[in-house]
Amino acid sequence: MIKERKQKMHIASIEILPQSKNYCHVIYNETNAILFDPGEANPILQWLQRQSLQLTHIFITHHHWDHTDGINAVTDATGAKVITSTTSQINADYKLDHLSVYTVPWLKHPITAIHIPGHTLDHCGYLIDDIFFSGDTLFSLGCGRVFEGTYPMMLESLQRIAKLPEDTKIYFAHEYTRNNAKFALYIEPDNEQLRAHLDTLPKITVPTTLAFEKQFNPFLRTQDPDLHKQLSQLTGQTIHSEISCFTTLRQLKDNY
Ligand SMILES: [Zn+2]
Repeated sequence: MIKERKQKMHIASIEILPQSKNYCHVIYNETNAILFDPGEANPILQWLQRQSLQLTHIFITHHHWDHTDGINAVTDATGAKVITSTTSQINADYKLDHLSVYTVPWLKHPITAIHIPGHTLDHCGYLIDDIFFSGDTLFSLGCGRVFEGTYPMMLESLQRIAKLPEDTKIYFAHEYTRNNAKFALYIEPDNEQLRAHLDTLPKITVPTTLAFEKQFNPFLRTQDPDLHKQLSQLTGQTIHSEISCFTTLRQLKDNY
């Protein structure tokens, strides 16, 4: 009897572009790899070479340079296919509609594209089993700035992520957690659990879980009446809806 050789799926988060603290996340087994957002080619190519891995696919969350600048050099070196959302202007081998599924032949689990516009109009997250790559839409204890979309669009995208299973692991694209935690505490100075979290924060905080973010990330708590109250006191405005809560939070964070 021939036994199917079970290949274990691993994830690594390569730190790239130190000034903007980007992560390039890689899923790999003993032979192959796919990666998300090659903002810089050299550290990624060196890592792949050290691990003796063949890169087969590159997934792009959105068009910003710190997520895409390495695409050409990495595809030239590896022949990997490039995958984006259908809303992307980037040259790609495949473009995925919202909720469409892509199968990487060597990966056990298919990958579902989840369109989450707001930070940019082409922003796409990718779900594989219980792992979600959130790009610059959801960070630990924060969210991306609203550059191209509208506040309601960004809120809807965050709500889309919030509907995933609670134990989903979130791999975000920037290590902004310390600053995000300080802002969350500025909004809610009496949140002792959050303060304890900040005090023990490691240097690398990826991944987080959706359950943790729903409990502590203010941008995923826009329905919480306690948060509305805190924000109303802080701003002197009446915050009574999810959208007014989200917009106020986002504008406060932009100027924090
Ligand atoms: Zn971005």
